[in-house]
Amino acid sequence: MGAYNILITDITCSYCNTSHEVKVQFKYGLTWQLDFRIGERIQWETRYDIGTPGTEKVKVYGIRESDPVCPHCGHPEDEEYDIIVEKDIIKSMSPMKNPQDYLNDDEGCFVIIS
Ligand SMILES: [Zn+2]
Repeated sequence: MGAYNILITDITCSYCNTSHEVKVQFKYGLTWQLDFRIGERIQWETRYDIGTPGTEKVKVYGIRESDPVCPHCGHPEDEEYDIIVEKDIIKSMSPMKNPQDYLNDDEGCFVIIS
C-alpha cells in the first residue's frame, strides 16, 4: 500500500444518532500522510501528485481507516466514501454511491465530474 492522505470528519450513526469522528484515507494531490478537514485545500508539489491542480470538480475514492462500525453502539457503517473536491477545496464527504465509477480511472483514486 502506497502513501495516502487522511480526511478527518464527523459522521452521525444512523442507528443511535450519535456523531463521531472518522478518518478516511484518500489519494489526491500531494499524497504524503497529510491530514485534512472539510473546507481545506489540497496541496500540490510535484508532477507525481495524483490528479491535476485546479480541476473544477472531482470525486475522490475514500476508505475508512478503522473498522466501519459506530464506536458507541457497534452498528455497521459505511466503509467507502465519495469525497467531493472543487477547485482543490475539499467540499464534502458522503457514503459511496457507485463504486464502479472508480474502475474507469487508471489508478482508481478519483473521477473527474466537470
Ligand atoms: Zn451508533
